[in-house]
Amino acid sequence: MVTKERRPWKPRTTAKSMYGSGGAADPFPLSRSKLDQFHKCPRCFWVDRVAGMPHPGMPGFALNSQVDALLKKEFDAHRTAGTPHPYMVEYGLGHLVPLNHDMMDDWRNNFKGVRTGKHGLELFGSVDDIWCDPKEGGEWFVVDYKATSSAADMTVELFFEDIYKGSYVRQLAIYQWILREMGAPVSSKGYFVYENGNKAVDSLMDGGPPEAPRGIPLKPVRVIEIDTADPDCVVEGVRIDMDWVENLVAGAKACLELAAPPDAGEHCEHCPYVASVSQL
Ligand code: SF4
Repeated sequence: MVTKERRPWKPRTTAKSMYGSGGAADPFPLSRSKLDQFHKCPRCFWVDRVAGMPHPGMPGFALNSQVDALLKKEFDAHRTAGTPHPYMVEYGLGHLVPLNHDMMDDWRNNFKGVRTGKHGLELFGSVDDIWCDPKEGGEWFVVDYKATSSAADMTVELFFEDIYKGSYVRQLAIYQWILREMGAPVSSKGYFVYENGNKAVDSLMDGGPPEAPRGIPLKPVRVIEIDTADPDCVVEGVRIDMDWVENLVAGAKACLELAAPPDAGEHCEHCPYVASVSQL
């Protein structure tokens, strides 16, 4: 894709995505990322969804997306074959397989996704994958592929210590909640398949297959298990579980009903920055 023009920031023009605008969809759609935005800063959430002023966007991370796309292809081959991916076997999950379900492509589609209605809202989001226990009545497991390049070892502990990885735990809980609301037999356990660039190497590797002779050097994969039913599933002092998601959804609905924007959250740099600049 070639970007030839800078896009100026503009307020939203589609009434459908502005709560209370008269033209807003009913039930009002809220994505998983907007729910997390409400968690981080109710003010920005209100400004976006009610006043129609979205936060300026960011460019995508194309290499990360490429890793996700390749993982999807690999796991899809095992979905069709009904076999566990070697990563699953390596991490003691060889009794599970990628879920082969007619809706899987919709559930992974950003414009469709998993969906449920509650509190006058329609909550939705696209999952990367779902694994399942193929036994009769077996559970489903929400799975997310992640790609990064970090000197840190990816561990369960890091997910609860690192504030950015903490948002992945919230993401997992929200998807589990939506799928449970849809009636799916979703486990409280979920998995992150983590590919991590190896900063210790001196060059891009040679010797890959013909279609990719120079691969990106990666550390051994990590498959991280997070259990939202574990009392230690706490991110930045907040216990993340299904009750947390339920309260988050109800809180987001109450926020949308406010006549004026609420206070800002504590963790964003932008408002303090703008306030400082505006004092010049
Ligand atoms: S602190 Fe300000 S800029 Fe940051 S998320 Fe909240 S309202 Fe938005």
